[in-house]
Amino acid sequence: MTRRAYIQTMGCQMNEYDSGKIVGILEDHGYAAVDDPAEADLVILNTCSVREKAVHKVRSEVGRLRFLKSGRPGMLIGVAGCVAQQEGAALLDREGVVDLVFGPDQIDRLPEMLQRAERRERVVENQFRPAGEYNFIAADVLPGRLAPTAHVTVQKGCDNNCTFCIVPHTRGREINRPADEIVAEVRELARRGVREIILIGQNVNSYSTESTGGPDFPRLLEMAAAVSGVKRIRFTTSHPKSFDERLARAMAEIPQVCEFLHLPVQSGSGVVLEMMGREYTREDYLRKIRRAREICPTLSLSTDLIVGFPGELEEDFELTLSLVEEARFDSIFAFAYSPRPFTPAARFEDQVPEQDKRRRLATLLETARRIGVENAQALLGTEQEILIERVDARRGQATGRTRGNRLVHVDQQGLSPGDLVLVEITGVLDHSLRGRSIRMAA
Ligand code: SF4
Repeated sequence: MTRRAYIQTMGCQMNEYDSGKIVGILEDHGYAAVDDPAEADLVILNTCSVREKAVHKVRSEVGRLRFLKSGRPGMLIGVAGCVAQQEGAALLDREGVVDLVFGPDQIDRLPEMLQRAERRERVVENQFRPAGEYNFIAADVLPGRLAPTAHVTVQKGCDNNCTFCIVPHTRGREINRPADEIVAEVRELARRGVREIILIGQNVNSYSTESTGGPDFPRLLEMAAAVSGVKRIRFTTSHPKSFDERLARAMAEIPQVCEFLHLPVQSGSGVVLEMMGREYTREDYLRKIRRAREICPTLSLSTDLIVGFPGELEEDFELTLSLVEEARFDSIFAFAYSPRPFTPAARFEDQVPEQDKRRRLATLLETARRIGVENAQALLGTEQEILIERVDARRGQATGRTRGNRLVHVDQQGLSPGDLVLVEITGVLDHSLRGRSIRMAA
């Protein structure tokens, strides 16, 4: 009998990706995914601890599930992801209704863990796996019809020690996936019709398997680009300290590699960067992006920024604003600092008052919005290649993404997801562009 599983994903792209793998593994083991937890025999919360109050959020979700389980006694409840990694047995002890708790390194063991949970064993698996024992789960477990774009993991974990970040605590040390596995997964995805590959990892540009005779990241890009059927390659996230000219050249010279770089700067103040443990200066960052633009003039740039880091003075924030003016990012993700458990910065003195954080965040977002619109207006009248991601037949509209990662809406005109189209940019909307399709791209 087919059992039904409901997966609820909280948080980042990495969790979305892990949830896809969880669904694939479950479908391989006789489960069908459903959209309603009330119909499910198994519910998995794939949790995130990057945002504040993550544990509270998990608690309230578990509370809702407790109510559902009271009407479905055979239902199993699992908690996965970073909160599971962080809390482990304490979570199982506290939330009696939860049957299994497992961290991101243990996803491939899910069938065996479920069997144990069905036997009413206590299941807590949140150990990190060492490099030789870590299993990257390949795309062949992904179910059903695939979207034109797919993510491929190239590494897991992080060896840095940014003082605000919980990732090293929840995802462990950096492990780089063997290149032949990555290329095999890219080949399989391309065979199934995927046209754009996004290589993901916490610091993709520190990827290196040179110690075992394998490639570094620019060489990995070349290998992935050589796979037949792959039209576009993107990658995220890059660390400024490891960003170098070779990667900029790969973006400029490998036709499949898109000219889009997400390079989180976090702050424009050297003092704050040092307190954050980022291992580069404001000047390093600006010099690197200037050089990248010289090498790759059509480069589109986005970043992450934190305002109100402990000890951030008004003059530090002004430096962040001036960096944003100078870098002219196409888009930013900005957050007010909030302390994370297990991180050094949570214990720093000089926490910034909430009202100052909110004011700085609003000012920063408005500055970045203005620059983003100015950059978008500079695209008016230009020709851009877009990859169609979805069509809305009711509105007669197709939506795709430029190589620089901007969303563009065009008239549907027989277009389908996966089509590569040359368009002329005709309008700038709030968070996207309007275009007129000219012809199909090669
Ligand atoms: S580089 Fe820093 S911010 Fe990024 S995952 Fe590692 S510790 Fe976190």
